[in-house]
Amino acid sequence: MRREFLAGACFGFGLLAHSFAQQIEIPRENTGEFAASPTLSGVDEEVKERASEALPSAVHYDRAAAPKITPEQMRRAGVLAREKVEKEARLQATRAAEAAKRFITASQPAEDRQSRSSGPPSSQALNLHSETALTKLANGFDFPVGKPDAQGYYKARGFRSHGHLGEDWDGIRGGDTDLGDPIYSIGNGVVVFARDCHMGWGNVVIIRHAFREDGTVKNIDSLYGHLNTILVRRGQAVSRGEEIGTMGTAHGMYDAHLHFEIRKNLEIGMSRAAFARDLSNYYDPTQFILSHRQLPTAKGGYRIAMNTFTRDANIRWDERRNYSQSSSGGTSESAAALKRALASQH
Ligand SMILES: [Zn+2]
Repeated sequence: MRREFLAGACFGFGLLAHSFAQQIEIPRENTGEFAASPTLSGVDEEVKERASEALPSAVHYDRAAAPKITPEQMRRAGVLAREKVEKEARLQATRAAEAAKRFITASQPAEDRQSRSSGPPSSQALNLHSETALTKLANGFDFPVGKPDAQGYYKARGFRSHGHLGEDWDGIRGGDTDLGDPIYSIGNGVVVFARDCHMGWGNVVIIRHAFREDGTVKNIDSLYGHLNTILVRRGQAVSRGEEIGTMGTAHGMYDAHLHFEIRKNLEIGMSRAAFARDLSNYYDPTQFILSHRQLPTAKGGYRIAMNTFTRDANIRWDERRNYSQSSSGGTSESAAALKRALASQH
């Protein structure tokens, strides 16, 4: 998929779009230090990858010196981006249909086999903590921007095991034109986490969903990062398509975009470094949504656990902004990144 995208991008976008892509994909500030840093983890990857993938390593990018883009160039880039999204969506839909066929013929879906072998707990298997909340079952899932189909947005970066564990969604007009745009809950659920995580993440909302599939009720967590504002609070029930926050920059670290994850493991929380960084714990978000657009509904509520982020317990959210060094076992972030983040936090 990635290769196809790159080939398509080279073929279709040309130099103009290349410079446009640079403008919208890289962090706000000069990225040379990030690229040189040997020990980046957590959302630092966001910085590192956005920098290294968007730019040749030798380039020192300066936002102030970004090439001026005419309205016509922006329009063309927007059209190209939209075509790319549509092409990808068609491809994903085909794959989802194929997966559905396999699912019907096989005794278990591949994803389930995978998760069973690597062992993320199901909602039933978790040793549930005392606090629970009621939610309606999700009757299907939509995209978190441009609801329901991400209209007006494109996926600047996709999911990659052991790399980028979510998707980055950007407005097709580029730059910060999407700053403050509404972010929607992908389905019915309950907010299990909503707060400013500072370093790298900014404001984060995590919503827990329950849905019926294969005769059982399953849970997933959807995560929305870098938000400019949070419009919900922990424990709040939310509906499919309800606005939960607005698109942001993680306190000025990036061009405005949404970092979006879907987890099958309900223990991860903000301690990603403590868990396998692959499909045993995560879904490819677009793939998941496209294969779960309509789901069976049920009357009444379903009870979900609220306190499952066991590894987050020792994170001192406000005192220790470099949370990745908490008990989760993450590696340290670069001093330069820390300095930059503190400088942007006023
Ligand atoms: Zn991201």
